[in-house]
Amino acid sequence: MTENGKGDIGYRLLDCHEAAKHHFERAANRLKMKRRIRDWIVKPFREITVHLPVVMDDGDIQLFKGYRVQHNNTRGPYKGGLRYHPTVTLNDVRGLAAWMTWKTALLDLPLGGAKGGVTCDPKKMSEAELERLTRKYTRAISLDIGPSQDIPAPDVNTNEKVMAWIMDEYSKLRGYAPAVVTGKPLDLGGSPGRLDATGKGVSIIIRQWAADNNIAIESGSAVIQGFGNVGYYTAFHLQQAGCRVVGISDSGACVYNSKGLAIEELMNYKRENGSVGSFPGADTMDPEEIFALDCDFLVPAALENAITKNNASKIKARAVFEAANGPICPLIEPSIAEQGIAIVPDILANSGGVVVSYFEWVQNLQQFSWNSKKIEGELRNRMITAYRRVVEKSDAEKVSLRLAAYMLAIEKVARASMARGIY
Ligand code: NAD
Repeated sequence: MTENGKGDIGYRLLDCHEAAKHHFERAANRLKMKRRIRDWIVKPFREITVHLPVVMDDGDIQLFKGYRVQHNNTRGPYKGGLRYHPTVTLNDVRGLAAWMTWKTALLDLPLGGAKGGVTCDPKKMSEAELERLTRKYTRAISLDIGPSQDIPAPDVNTNEKVMAWIMDEYSKLRGYAPAVVTGKPLDLGGSPGRLDATGKGVSIIIRQWAADNNIAIESGSAVIQGFGNVGYYTAFHLQQAGCRVVGISDSGACVYNSKGLAIEELMNYKRENGSVGSFPGADTMDPEEIFALDCDFLVPAALENAITKNNASKIKARAVFEAANGPICPLIEPSIAEQGIAIVPDILANSGGVVVSYFEWVQNLQQFSWNSKKIEGELRNRMITAYRRVVEKSDAEKVSLRLAAYMLAIEKVARASMARGIY
């Protein structure tokens, strides 16, 4: 795709930055947004690259590369996760940061968008090495983050423990500041409901979509790619709602049982054995087989570019819910739509995490805590309101749910930019 969203570049995988730009340009074209405004709001405001020397357990010093991309803070402080992964690049972080800007706008949160990443392989590092790396990264960006500046959160391979190290290191340098990160342990100012918020949010959207499409959730079936934080909690909440979760994969294997998998037993099994493969009472297959399984709801909850031209034509689901960020290669998306399969986009489907992160940040700033019931009610309200807006826009403009979501989000950021006079 060319800069203006026209022209054919043939099929290839797009990285997160290219994918985010692709979707943005289509929506900006549809809105007939002026070039000077779209250039301003699509480009990251700031990009930080840091080099982090870390003493490893054997005494050796290893140099890691880290990033923080602050995409847009027109509507509020930058907000976005931190990813640890061996393949993470600046372009991935750029795209993921832009998606946060559109997500916070779509959900009407007074926040902007950012993302962080460190190129490392946490599976090959000890906990002590990960702690030293996290503290180094925090020190390196300590002048660029803060409760009213930029608030990191967990993403792939980072968790409550990593957030606690960031909060501790930042507080040593700048004074006690729990609101500098979200996704913290409850004992350190974390919020009830944050751990499972993204998966719960995905399940809220699936149930709403199912109701709108006359599918009783109790007779529906789901298949989930990825069994980390988002995949596990999506499966857990769908099962709680009575839905059969028939297939789950991780990077090692895919397991299938047409009667439904026992989710908690499967998670215990994975913890003990390292993978879902060979789980008793289910058939084990290659992880790639997950996309061809019969189901109503397909939930990619692993990494970007999971659905490509190699597997898109095999999908049998009625709808794909993007729990991961950017799991569908944008250039294959039209062929999925042609098969009559709905796509509920990531900036809506996986927004539960940032919604409860927002609640955590608000509680930290107020030094007042909310109970689980309040959090759950507020999460549901926010997500269903956003879902309704997207469906209405999609119906009114006769565009896909993704295009509708982008149009709503980028229009909002553009309006805020003009109101502030930065255009
Ligand atoms: P995680 O590290 O907890 O889990 C990732 C999972 O994906 C692991 O189980 C891993 O085995 C699996 N995986 C990796 N490659 C795979 C493959 N080829 N096939 C099957 N499984 C594979 O990460 P997470 O926090 O669950 O994040 C997953 C996705 O959701 C990412 O795209 C992330 O950006 C997005 N997301 C996360 C949050 C959050 O709150 N954690 C919020 C919004 C979006």
